[in-house]
Amino acid sequence: MEAEAFRVGIGHDTHRLEAGGPLRLGGIDLPSDFHAVGHSDADALLHAITDAILGAAAIGDIGDLFPDTAEENRGRDSADMLTEAIARARQSGFRLANLDCIVHLERPKLALHKQKMIERIESIVGLPPFRVGLKAKTGEQVGPVGQSAAIMAQCVALMYRDE
Ligand code: MG
Repeated sequence: MEAEAFRVGIGHDTHRLEAGGPLRLGGIDLPSDFHAVGHSDADALLHAITDAILGAAAIGDIGDLFPDTAEENRGRDSADMLTEAIARARQSGFRLANLDCIVHLERPKLALHKQKMIERIESIVGLPPFRVGLKAKTGEQVGPVGQSAAIMAQCVALMYRDE
């Protein structure tokens, strides 16, 4: 197997939480007592996925492509940014194999919403079923996640060369 056949990328993101829902996460609005604060729609999970994909293709990061100083990115739908990252990776010769993600959030519990989030992510990135892993972890009531001051997300993406 060629050394260049596969590429792995990692993404991480943090957003501050403030009172009042809904919470934008994984491309959908979840019922929540908190919302995430950011320049775009503050979707920490889609931002982590976007950075993992850009990282795997080594074509920069989300801040390079979509600066938070740009007016055009204010309130921007993060699904648009993820779609653009996928397109750019394709232009570099890479297609997505799978994603594995972790969301760190004290509440709401994500168990009831996970499948809907997975299906939304599959549709944005163009993957068939069983290629997107999603785990939810609390902060055990300590630290910024545990105190519901922040949401964090992590993602690993595997891409393969397809030219
Ligand atoms: Mg972000």
